[in-house]
Amino acid sequence: MNLILMGLPGAGKGTQAEKIVEKYNIPHISTGDMFRLAIKEGTELGKEAKSFMDKGDLVPDAVTIGIVRERLSKPDCQDGFLLDGFPRTIAQAEALESLLNDMEESLDYVLHIDVPKDQLIERLTGRRVCPTCGATYHVIFNPPKEEGKCDHDGSELIQREDDQPDTVKKRLEVNVEQTKPLLDFYREKGYVVSFKGDRDINEVFQDIDQKLGNLSQ
Ligand SMILES: [Zn+2]
Repeated sequence: MNLILMGLPGAGKGTQAEKIVEKYNIPHISTGDMFRLAIKEGTELGKEAKSFMDKGDLVPDAVTIGIVRERLSKPDCQDGFLLDGFPRTIAQAEALESLLNDMEESLDYVLHIDVPKDQLIERLTGRRVCPTCGATYHVIFNPPKEEGKCDHDGSELIQREDDQPDTVKKRLEVNVEQTKPLLDFYREKGYVVSFKGDRDINEVFQDIDQKLGNLSQ
């Protein structure tokens, strides 16, 4: 079961990834985790990646692909994988394709969690943080007992810079620009399955589960 998970920030990718991984026993492979592991294990590619990251530079595709190759060759990927955050570009998608070819594997689905942009804005701007204890709340989904106050210590909750409407909108726009060509690329190849993500978490997962269930038979 070889999967890629796509969706804008706030679409609930993390939650669905957890559920998929638990049910189907495949590893959730995020780009960040992959780099951290390679660096921790001190592989040549890990060292190379680190030298770019230390300088604040982007890690070149050739290095990233090499790290993906190392990761996908690990025993826990025997029954498949759930990639999250990779590929980011069409060049990377093409490299992944030939990498999978080499491994005599192929992609099964690109799972796309689709949530309307205004809903994402609502989700992402609703976060509030306690400056004292770091607890996080959401004005709609996880409100504190008393509006604007931390349940633990009564501190006035704040909205982080990252969660301000203008910042959120900009972040979403950048993401849409980045992911649209990639989604189109995979759509043309027939890999994309879209799920409406503006529903109960379990309903979304049920649909994903049904699609994946067909695959494992
Ligand atoms: Zn607090």
